[in-house]
Amino acid sequence: MNHPIVPPHGVRPDGEAQSALMSTYRDLAFPTRTGTAPIGSRRAPALRTVGPRERRSHLSAPRVPTVGIDIGGTKVMAGVVDADGNILEKLRTETPDKSKSPKVVEDTIVELVLDLSDRHDVHAVGIGAAGWVDADRNRVLFAPHLSWRNEPLRDRIAGRLAVPVLVDNDANTAAWAEWRFGAGRGEDHLVMITLGTGIGGAILEDGQVKRGKYGVAGEFGHMQVVPGGHRCPCGNRGCWEQYSSGNALVREARELAAADSPVAYGIIEHVKGNIGDITGPMITELAREGDAMCIELLQDIGQWLGVGIANLAAALDPSCFVIGGGVSAADDLLIGPARDAFKRHLTGRGYRPEARIARAQLGPEAGMVGAADLARLVARRFRRANRRRVERYERYARFAEFRRSSQGSA
Ligand SMILES: [Zn+2]
Repeated sequence: MNHPIVPPHGVRPDGEAQSALMSTYRDLAFPTRTGTAPIGSRRAPALRTVGPRERRSHLSAPRVPTVGIDIGGTKVMAGVVDADGNILEKLRTETPDKSKSPKVVEDTIVELVLDLSDRHDVHAVGIGAAGWVDADRNRVLFAPHLSWRNEPLRDRIAGRLAVPVLVDNDANTAAWAEWRFGAGRGEDHLVMITLGTGIGGAILEDGQVKRGKYGVAGEFGHMQVVPGGHRCPCGNRGCWEQYSSGNALVREARELAAADSPVAYGIIEHVKGNIGDITGPMITELAREGDAMCIELLQDIGQWLGVGIANLAAALDPSCFVIGGGVSAADDLLIGPARDAFKRHLTGRGYRPEARIARAQLGPEAGMVGAADLARLVARRFRRANRRRVERYERYARFAEFRRSSQGSA
């Protein structure tokens, strides 16, 4: 807990950031020393990061319903989830525009939770955010679809809602959900790949999410697979997600349609010539109906998926890859070619056990369910830490009272 904290590259260790990076548990134990959490403050105390004991701790975490929130690029989904992963109620709304201030996004989250708390007991709130979350899981360092830049999201929301809050990357929460309740159950070494507009990733080992030193592990989408390839919004060229994602699928289809290629006649007719209307789900739908170009495009995406998975197997050697995200709805049209390419590119093929490649089972709710389930871990910690805090305060108050009375009599 006392290890020196080196700020991630590009994040300035200003005073505010530094104090937040300090052990928040110490703030609970010695509230007056740091001055950030005065004794008797109504604000919910910030929580210590869930550490190595996360493993199996979900089994002893309280079996209480919690709220999970998934903040994606286009929508915010919030739901009450019980300890078995069942969704008791779900709400969704649009993600506030990037131009809006962080406060607007906060308001959206708070409103959703307050709405749900009218009908349910909310013991903790878990937030899965599409962005980089720091190792303390307090700050969102950067979110491509939102105005968050080094935003202390956990403390802000915990302060406003007065319940324990957990913040994590959305791919991590989705992986957690698949491991607990979905396609990855029983796997000790699991890698999750979510194919949405880009590629999200997460690593789970022995029931623990591997976040890396600075919290941003699992950004598989930006591994370079084609030197000098397509330009990626991240600034580099040839990133994996430029070849295996929803964006890649749509880009290729639109390119063929714009070139008026004979293979694209089917889809051009489908959108009545408006090439801008071509979407990923549309391509999947047409592929299911037997459109040759759409099938081929999904095969291409699937092949690149297999190549990337083989690279990840060389580095991480997991027993299972779970493929989620919107593009995974194409199912065998995508995962079939991925399995073939994986077998062709796997290092040591023929002489090693091959990882299983499975399609995610929880669908678009995975991120939300995982965030809620992870929040149960802090629900317990909150109670214990809070009890200690209250006990300490009472002891201190008795001592202060004793001193006052003895000084008065002297
Ligand atoms: Zn990139």
